[in-house]
Amino acid sequence: MIPGSPPTSAAPLPRGICILGSTGSIGTQTLDIVRLFPDAFHIRSLTAHNSVDLLVEQAMEFRPECVVVSDPGGYGPLKDALQGTGIRVLAGAEHLAHASTLDSVDVVVAAVVGAAGLAPVLEAVRSGKTVALANKETLVIAGEIVRFHAERSDATIIPVDSEHSAIFQCLVGEAMDTVEELVLTASGGPFRDAPLEALASVTPEEALAHPNWSMGPKITIDSATMMNKGLEVIEARWLFGVSADRIRVVVHPQSIVHSMVTFIDGSTKAQLGVPDMKVPIQYAMTFPERWPAPHERLDWESLSKLDFSPPDLERFPCLRLAYEALHIGGSAPAVLNAANEVAVDQFLKGRISFTDISFAIEEAVGRLASPEPQDLERLMEVDDLARNLVVELNRRTHH
Ligand code: NAD
Ligand code: MG
Repeated sequence: MIPGSPPTSAAPLPRGICILGSTGSIGTQTLDIVRLFPDAFHIRSLTAHNSVDLLVEQAMEFRPECVVVSDPGGYGPLKDALQGTGIRVLAGAEHLAHASTLDSVDVVVAAVVGAAGLAPVLEAVRSGKTVALANKETLVIAGEIVRFHAERSDATIIPVDSEHSAIFQCLVGEAMDTVEELVLTASGGPFRDAPLEALASVTPEEALAHPNWSMGPKITIDSATMMNKGLEVIEARWLFGVSADRIRVVVHPQSIVHSMVTFIDGSTKAQLGVPDMKVPIQYAMTFPERWPAPHERLDWESLSKLDFSPPDLERFPCLRLAYEALHIGGSAPAVLNAANEVAVDQFLKGRISFTDISFAIEEAVGRLASPEPQDLERLMEVDDLARNLVVELNRRTHH
């Protein structure tokens, strides 16, 4: 899981690939990487929620063994469109784990958004696959459980999230007991400098306009509230086994330094690059090797300065809430995540205001979080309770 003793060689080529969430922002960029190395990567399975047309297009191009739509309503159209191709078609969320555990799959790229990614990722980990993990929510909900199973099965989890990829790259060749602090950089999103009193009335369109990255809608809103960085702190805690008091967040508006590690001798290593998710996606798929690729390079002629400042927790209460959830432990991060997923959805649908997002999460954590260690079943129950509570809170305020 951590790069202390990296495998000396990666899985043999061609490498079998499953993409969970192939129709999204990370999923489609993963296919761009596969197009760059068609002899090295072979797509074995693809999944989507309900974007049937795009999934069909991808299946016709990459000819996987199997495709899965988690929305059962997608079955008919998908089956019809792939008639005669020999590609197996499955529908329903319970089949996502089929795609991620096929014998022919070596690397699972986990690019589903939200808690829906947990089950198929956990099954992939249990069956010892290499998991290139973009779906941070999985580690937020059940980091300890995923870690436990990864150690048992010898599964390798390689981060795709740019900050964690940066830290992972800084850690190659280093011993974990020489790490003093992880430093996660954050752009601060579109409202970094907006007047505080304006935040209550920002629109979904304004919140969706991220200054540096083009991503799916949920993570883009998370970036605007900085809950994304909060989820990333929790993700880092479980990926690298470093406690929260040694994970710092620094606002860096240019998104050029993707994150850093400070070691016990006072040295700090950073990983830099143009903001382009293809670089960390490719690294996760080729680790422990690096393969040549034409991704955009930093331009030292035009790059004039890099700014850093501490995050403003009054402006971004979600970041504070994430640290608090990690401190509480137990079910708190799962409650935080579920409440956030529902609140973000409600904000995108225009049902609650931007500042209501953090209120809903704080309320849910306050009412439902327990510090006791939780098994998976209990975490799923509490995920459900938190979702219902946030829906109910909104109903009460608006009637
Ligand atoms: P997206 O919304 O663009 O794509 C999500 C994918 O998951 C789609 O293929 C969709 O069909 C599928 N999906 C959605 N809901 C589902 C459900 N209930 N069940 C099964 N499948 C479902 O999202 P994205 O921006 O690609 O992000 C994916 C994950 O990667 C998130 O966890 C995000 O935090 C993380 N991530 C994304 C970026 C980025 O640049 N986009 C960067 C870092 C981390
Ligand atoms: Mg990130």
